Amino acid sequence: MNQLRKDYLTNKWVIIAKERGKRPSDFRHEEKKEESKPCFFCPGKEHRTPPEIDRIERNGKWIIRCFPNKFPATTEKKEITDKGLLKGMAAYGRHEVVVETPIHGEELGNLAVEHIAKVLKMYTKRLVELKKDPGIEYVSIFKNRGKTAGASLAHSHTQIVALPMVPGIIREEMKILQKQGDCPLCRIGDIEEGRTIREDDHTVVVAPYASRFPFEARITPKRHVPSLEKLNNKEMESFALALKEVLTALNKSINYPPYNYHLHLGPGRGDFHMYLELLPRLSTWAGFELGNDIIINTMPPEMAAKHYREIIKQ
Ligand SMILES: [Zn+2]
Ligand SMILES: [Zn+2]
Repeated sequence: MNQLRKDYLTNKWVIIAKERGKRPSDFRHEEKKEESKPCFFCPGKEHRTPPEIDRIERNGKWIIRCFPNKFPATTEKKEITDKGLLKGMAAYGRHEVVVETPIHGEELGNLAVEHIAKVLKMYTKRLVELKKDPGIEYVSIFKNRGKTAGASLAHSHTQIVALPMVPGIIREEMKILQKQGDCPLCRIGDIEEGRTIREDDHTVVVAPYASRFPFEARITPKRHVPSLEKLNNKEMESFALALKEVLTALNKSINYPPYNYHLHLGPGRGDFHMYLELLPRLSTWAGFELGNDIIINTMPPEMAAKHYREIIKQ
């Protein structure tokens, strides 16, 4: 039976539609892994990127690099226009790139867990730095992997966009995630019983009840922590391991599908419970989805969670 479900964080509706006989393996991604070739994110091409902001090195060579995006979505101007209904402002902010590995073609999920923890530490450093600007209200950290997911370059990287406003989705979630005693992510293990993918002392991963995408996953710290910079070392390592295991399971079983992930972080005022949303891009949204803002997902999260658990156990 197909079921309409409402997400308890975003209030968005989905139709969970189990297509007859469709198994996880039917979602296998056919596109081959993109071929290796040097690009301007590769070592030796550093002069082709805008001036470097930060790096993490091993044995005198960079393993993670951060620099401004060559084609930023934001500007450094501040300007507000208000003509009645036509309100706007300069897209003030910063747009940066974090290259996660020097190796072209290497997948984030295939990096050592210590390396992934360092990538998260780079996110954290940039987040703390960008938040110092009083003109910045929110820092959006997201990754596009694969052309269908919007990645223009195959070399594994993350983008960071600092914005002069808090996005609507985060403002909505702030209302729901603000009370520690009454926060759904503090009780996620109970709420998502049967849809839990993995769990350790510090981190829980679930396939959420109202998943919009096949194999969607939410990774969240167990503690009521608003943002990356508030995680302690153990929590950060656990978060890195959770991300690695979920990406590895996805890559292994669905053959390196395109995906996006983004962090939902507390903007600094008010309370929040942070999480990472992983969205494999295996379906196309069409008229029904765009016209009604109701998504049809043909992979029930209960089945996705079971599939993830089986792959992670192997
Ligand atoms: Zn490259
Ligand atoms: Zn919480």
